[in-house]
Amino acid sequence: MSILEKHTNGSKIAYFSMEIGLRDEIPTFSGGLGILAGDTIKSSADLNLPLVAVTLIYHKGYFKQDIDDQGRQIELAAQWAPSEIMTTLPEKVDVIIEDRTVYIQALVYAVISPRGGEIPVIFLDTNLPENSEEDRALTDHLYGGDDSYRIKQEVILGIGGVRMLRKLGLQIKKYHMNEGHAAFLTLELLHQFKNDLKDVWDESFMWNFETVKELCVFTTHTPVEAGHDKFSYDLYRRVIGDYFPEKVIRGIAGEENLNMTLLALNLSNDVNGVAKKHGEVSQNMFPGYKINSITNGVHSYTWTCDSFKRLFDKYLPGWANEPELFVRIDMVPPAELWNAHLEAKKILIDYVNSIHDLNMDYETLTIGFARRFATYKRASLLFTDIERLEKIASGKIQLIYAGKAHPKDEGGKKLIEDIFSYSQKLKGRINIAFIDNYNMETALKMVSGVDIWLNNPVRPLEASGTSGMKAAHNGVLNFSVLDGWWIEGHIEGETGWSIGPESTEAVPDENADAIDTSDLYKKLEEVIIPTFYQDRDKWISMMKSAIGKNAYYFNTHRMMRRYVTEAYIR
Ligand SMILES: *Cc1c(COP(=O)(O)O)cnc(C)c1O
Repeated sequence: MSILEKHTNGSKIAYFSMEIGLRDEIPTFSGGLGILAGDTIKSSADLNLPLVAVTLIYHKGYFKQDIDDQGRQIELAAQWAPSEIMTTLPEKVDVIIEDRTVYIQALVYAVISPRGGEIPVIFLDTNLPENSEEDRALTDHLYGGDDSYRIKQEVILGIGGVRMLRKLGLQIKKYHMNEGHAAFLTLELLHQFKNDLKDVWDESFMWNFETVKELCVFTTHTPVEAGHDKFSYDLYRRVIGDYFPEKVIRGIAGEENLNMTLLALNLSNDVNGVAKKHGEVSQNMFPGYKINSITNGVHSYTWTCDSFKRLFDKYLPGWANEPELFVRIDMVPPAELWNAHLEAKKILIDYVNSIHDLNMDYETLTIGFARRFATYKRASLLFTDIERLEKIASGKIQLIYAGKAHPKDEGGKKLIEDIFSYSQKLKGRINIAFIDNYNMETALKMVSGVDIWLNNPVRPLEASGTSGMKAAHNGVLNFSVLDGWWIEGHIEGETGWSIGPESTEAVPDENADAIDTSDLYKKLEEVIIPTFYQDRDKWISMMKSAIGKNAYYFNTHRMMRRYVTEAYIR
């Protein structure tokens, strides 16, 4: 029986994502968007949802990060062998790109839950002998290349993806676009449901918008206008040609530019942002559309470290498939919780000491910061006033950083160099380690092994953020700007601490850094450091609240149930 045969009866949700992060051996993700997609798929498997996922294969991955002795990022190809991990399917489809026929094949990877659910993930591949060299390279790099490379990848994902699902005999009842990258799928659906009218006087009657809208679900992830994928119509004409009339697409994707977010918005009946605040911000950006909020989560089992898995298995059996059981966290004796934390902390500190000559220890308050090094995340905010930081924290904290900057993001790369130079400057007083090549394994070590998870993006740019949810699953306390999910998860002094003003206050543009920094130092000095060293009982009770109140809610099991009731079968 072919690997897909058991999926051809019954109709499915097709989940389209430019990146999917399931495991490090499949390096087809760059950050939170991909990890979210992976967690979505894993929870869908656990919950036995009828879902199939579609993405691209990326033979060279995003990139493997090395850091040289000056703190400069070096980008290496993340070579891997897809065919060793997944199965190549015989079916082929094609799309027209720049008047050439580009053939697409697929590899399939099955995500299998211990509970029996199975989700096929389709990785589209153009690296076929019948394609030109240029087209073969279209599925090499995630977020590499220029606009032309990108629009071609999006044609393969959106149009090629729908054709592949059809060719494989899968019946689809909803198409879920995880971000606007996949929005070309709507054009292929418009073709599929085209009215067969003769002599129509207005060709717009040919296109059955309502039918397609009914089929489509769109999740937006970008809270700023500049973040949306846009292409010029010159490029559109050159790459896509007469596949879909420009006059019509200008009406649904923007007159000036082809805006992928607008295209997805106009052709989806169900649209949502990824946290309450982000839903509101998106609603203000796009008045006239109805934008719901479904706050992100993480896959609980994936993002809980071994010592906490054992602890939860003992006191909250069944937690992995029913994270609501975290509400009973008080069943866990405080000393056992602390020991589980120390075990995770030891693994991280030993790892850091094995790669850096820093002599980090198990007793010192350890703060972690790891995420993509996009400048809005302000990785070096903690070092704004070095003297003040030293005064507050010398000998009292140690810091662990990780994260990749996009190869073209000079600002992000500069931040990595900055962290590197602070680590040399402060060595011996405040030890700072940078772990290179941030990936899922490093992420789990860090979100479970530190004491505090630091997050200080510029508001309101963090649509949701998910690494803090991972921290909460391991009893690690969030110290974060009130943005994204933390607005919903934060109870001051109970689940963690805020940095800066309430989310409802107006954003004080040019003063934001100063206000946030001053609050960050003040809280570190007056609340966090004293609590950690002098009131361990209070600390442990906060760890419990993080699990019982945050992990309880911010997981993809809850999230997927909401997608089902608020979008898929609405
Ligand atoms: C969770 C995760 C992210 C997302 O982190 P944010 O703090 O939400 O930006 C990025 N990369 C990896 C490897 C992750 O595991």
